[in-house]
Amino acid sequence: MDVESFREFGKAAVDYLADYLENIRDRQVLPNVEPGYMRKLLPEEAPEEPERWQDVLKDMDRAIMPGLTHWHSPHFHAFYPTANSYPGIVGELLSAGLGTIGFTWMSSPASTELEVITLDWLGKMVGLPPEFLSCSPGHGGGVIQGSASEATLLCLLVARERYVQRLQEKNPNLSEEALRMTKAKLIAYTSNQSNSSVEKAGILGAVPMRLVPCDEKFQMKGQALREAIETDVKNGLIPCIVISTLGTTPTCANDPLEEISTVCKEFGVWHHVDAAYSGAALICPEYRYICKGIENTDSFNFNPHKWMLVNFDCSALWVKDSRELVSAMSVDRAYLAHTKQDSGMPDYRNWQIPLGRRFRALKLWFVLRIYGVRKLQEFIRQQCQLAIDFEQLLKSDDRFEIFTPAHMGLVTFRLKGPNENTKKLMANLQSGKKIYVVGAQLDGKEMIRFAICSRFTESSDIQFAWQEILRQTEKVFALPSKKQEITRGQK
Ligand code: PLP
Repeated sequence: MDVESFREFGKAAVDYLADYLENIRDRQVLPNVEPGYMRKLLPEEAPEEPERWQDVLKDMDRAIMPGLTHWHSPHFHAFYPTANSYPGIVGELLSAGLGTIGFTWMSSPASTELEVITLDWLGKMVGLPPEFLSCSPGHGGGVIQGSASEATLLCLLVARERYVQRLQEKNPNLSEEALRMTKAKLIAYTSNQSNSSVEKAGILGAVPMRLVPCDEKFQMKGQALREAIETDVKNGLIPCIVISTLGTTPTCANDPLEEISTVCKEFGVWHHVDAAYSGAALICPEYRYICKGIENTDSFNFNPHKWMLVNFDCSALWVKDSRELVSAMSVDRAYLAHTKQDSGMPDYRNWQIPLGRRFRALKLWFVLRIYGVRKLQEFIRQQCQLAIDFEQLLKSDDRFEIFTPAHMGLVTFRLKGPNENTKKLMANLQSGKKIYVVGAQLDGKEMIRFAICSRFTESSDIQFAWQEILRQTEKVFALPSKKQEITRGQK
């Protein structure tokens, strides 16, 4: 492809995206395709000869669009949001075009320095204590990870290494065998409401993850954590890290950081906070009550790529002592060394699991500058209000029960009565494909999660969702038709 075609292709792609996003409300949120649909549309071999970009772009409509779930549709209410904004998209484009790999300061000074600065900006925006920031004295600082899952795994590995290194310092003559036996006794803790990625981090890091039972508000209380730790210690296990959650995935519950940190301090355990979704709300001071006690934790992570309009992937992690990351993650080679290594600027390869890294700070910088803090706060507040509006609609119909009230853009609800009704409603909604919601089961009860996900969602979309829920609810309670009864009788 020559440069003129690149200009045309790039401009056409931007137009394509602008049309797609501005008209996304008109598309059905869930696709109609069946598994394997694409095999029928694409050839079995890659093309031998070059094709025209115009033809490739046309195939977006023929082969790709029919199989897309439209995550940015205002009728998407499943999971949690994934961010999308015009500044975020342009940031991604420029990052791809510049194509730098900033694993050391020298390998791309601008990407490292912009990341240091934007994470200080962002840390201040969410009210992090100064110990987490690079601009403060000490060893704190922020780094962009690919996902909250990676951030959790990284902290678990660092906590594990920290324990091992301290042990080796105390017992320099420790044998390999004794070290292996000690490592096998390490154990991690999180609540039974934490994200699947937390349990997975335990599997990948070879540190069993104890799922601490939550209270009736789906919070992991300090006392329950203490009991779990004390029992394990009695049985010879060694607590290594606790991962608490702000904004659990099923119901957006918040673990009380202050009491959990007290227990962590007592047992010398790393305290990591996974605020993947709801961390973005901390840019609004009225939500900061959820992170009371944050100053006593060791690491804090949230995803601007979820609820803060920065396109995937951009997961912000701050640690109080970056030396612990470096000590656990650095493996040196002559080709990675450079003359500015002791300048105080990070070599981010030592703050993450992979070696390579994209210039992700660019899209964060664009979003922060082009929205500004005020517009981002407005965005979060509007989304929270839409969830409150939806909760009001549920309250207006006594067939529904609110399972957990609107909290930071999420409401969970169910149909009163047996679980079967809610299950049927869920199935009807998914096969209707007009809105996309997912379910969960807690305390033996089926419920439906309704999250405000798209930045395009407005009041009329909440009404649209409500009407669809009412329509599908009618079907749940409809008496079987004569024809169905006859068919059943014949069986
Ligand atoms: N933690 C929580 C609380 C989440 O809700 C999610 C995803 O929804 C994750 C972690 C995983 O996030 P990521 O996809 O960035 O790994």
